[in-house]
Order: sequence, then structure tokens, then C-alpha cells
Amino acid sequence: MSIKSLSTFLALASLANAALIRRFTCPSGQVVSKMECCGLFPILENIQDNLFEGGKCGEDAHSALRLAFHDSIGFSLNRDIGGGADGSIITFGSTELEYSANSGIDEIVKSQEPFIGQYDISAGDFIQFAAAVAVSNCPGAPRLEFLLGRPAALRAAADETVPEPFHDATTILDRFKDAGFEPAEVVALLSSHSIAAADLVDSSVPGSPFDSTPYAFDSQFFIETLLRGESYPGKGPNEGEELAPEALKGEMRLESDYFLARDSRTACYWQQYIGQEDKMANDFRAAMAKLAILGQDREKLTDCSEVIPVPKPRIGKAHLPAGSSPEQIEQSCYDYPFPTLTADPGPATAVMPV
Ligand code: CA
Ligand code: CA
Repeated sequence: MSIKSLSTFLALASLANAALIRRFTCPSGQVVSKMECCGLFPILENIQDNLFEGGKCGEDAHSALRLAFHDSIGFSLNRDIGGGADGSIITFGSTELEYSANSGIDEIVKSQEPFIGQYDISAGDFIQFAAAVAVSNCPGAPRLEFLLGRPAALRAAADETVPEPFHDATTILDRFKDAGFEPAEVVALLSSHSIAAADLVDSSVPGSPFDSTPYAFDSQFFIETLLRGESYPGKGPNEGEELAPEALKGEMRLESDYFLARDSRTACYWQQYIGQEDKMANDFRAAMAKLAILGQDREKLTDCSEVIPVPKPRIGKAHLPAGSSPEQIEQSCYDYPFPTLTADPGPATAVMPV
């Protein structure tokens, strides 16, 4: 190559580079790679301030993630039961919110509807965007993918698409399989229960969390669900409720989580997340990316993940709660030794409602 052709080559190469990193400045000042994503920044600011209490991993953040799941899972690879992640749970709320599995979801729908009305965004996009922003508020969580461009929902999803806490492992795994998820992905999605609570399983104790750190995305959920159950947080047992550990008074254990933690098809995936928060976060991100576009064509959507805030780093380290001991672990995976965990010192402390 002559000096002249080399310099032409270098000039072309730098032009190609410039095209790859083309940037746009949004009217709101942020620099992005795709102009279509600019419209999301005002929504981000608004929901952080006015829906998520200034960017907290609180009850509304938990509910936004739950809503995204309930909307998306109305989908099947094998039957015509709904359009998946299409916003139908809001657009056809008068139908879907009557389903028993969606009880309590009406609250977050009511909170989100006014925001959707203010912007040029579909209900399906808004639900997934709000969920990704909500997750970013939880320390240790992955930065979820967000794709923009879901069209308006065409119809309500059928009833009985959402797994219920009283379902057994086979019923749950079959429903997920029907929607395209393998058992490993089901466990990855259940990482969401690290930042979740139940209001209506026992309405005498609303906001009962599923682990002792409902404000942090960590592996405590996978540890604590394996502790021997001894008591209920309220007036249990209720439908879908299982005994919870005595050392975690106030924590709610769902029957479905109890089953999947101990089922031979899922127990090793469950155990592998204990103390392996990076893997847990990566797998959750991948499973959520799939869930968020069920029923949609990825090629027709625009990647606006750059708008999602970078979550705060992980807090705390995998541990047994104070007042518990390794003997109380009901190990259910026999392929790998159980990770070594030490109990926090001192007496058991109550788990506060969210
Ligand atoms: Ca839907
Ligand atoms: Ca947690």
C-alpha cells in the first residue's frame, strides 16, 4: 500500500468510526446515539420524581416491575392468548384487572395511567420503561435493556396466563415453557422477588417482603427461601402462603417460591445465585430482555437502553440472617456443595413491611 492509499484508507476508517459513534444532543441536553430516544428523558425525570418517590426502590418501584411481568406473560408460543408485552393490562384493564392473578395490580395501573396520557408513548412501552427505571433504583440491580416502539395493544390477554402463588412447580414451569422460558430462566426472573412484597396474600399484613432486603437487589431471597419455615407473618396460612423462617418475622413466603426452591428441576439454579450476585444480575437482565418484548418483533424496535439510569452498586454481602444457623438450611441441590455463609451476630430482627 502506497503512502497515499494508506492515508486515504485511514481517512475512510476514521469516517466509519465517526458514523459508528454518531451522537445527538436532545432538547433536554442529554447526548444520545438515537434521536428517537430523546422523548424518554422528560418521562424519566417525571416518573423518578413523581412515581418513584425521588428515585427509590420502594413499593411503587416493586409494583412497576410486577406490572411489567403481568402484562408480558399474557403470551403463548402455542396458543392465541394475548399479545404479550403490549400494554393490554392497561389498555384493556377493565377486562384484565378482573382476573384473580391481577388482584392489587389496579393500584399501580391507576398510578401510571396519568403519566401515559401526558406523553406520546404507548402503554406497552411505558410499562416496560417504568419497570426498567424502577429496577435501576434498586442497588445491585442490572441496568435493564429498554426497547422503544411497541404498538397499541389490540386485545385483552386471556385469563390464567399469570402464574399464581398457590400453583405447584409443574404448573408454573409449564406456563413459562408455553411462553418460551426454560426452568433456568424462570429462576432468573424470580430474582425479582429480591425486591418485592405481597399485599394481598395475607391482607392483615400488607407489604410483607419476600426477603429481608426488599430495597436491594441481592441474593438474600435465594438464601432465605431455603431456611426452614416455622411461622407466618400474619394470620396464616392463607392461600399461596407457606411457613416462613422464625428468624425473619414479618417475611412472607409464597408457596410457589417454596416449591421452586426445592424442586429438582430448579433447585440448583436457585442455589447457584447465592452469593453470586453478578451472575444473578446478568441472568435477570437477559431473561427480562426476553420478557419485555414477548409478542413483539425486536427488529422493529429502537434500542433506548442508554436512557435507563445506571443502578447504584450492590450493598451488603450474602449472609444468614441474625438468629438463624446453617442447620436451618433445607439444601435441595445435590450437585454442588452449599456455599459457606455466616449468620449475622445478635438476636433475630423483624423484617419491616415496605
Ligand atoms: Ca399484555
Ligand atoms: Ca433483596
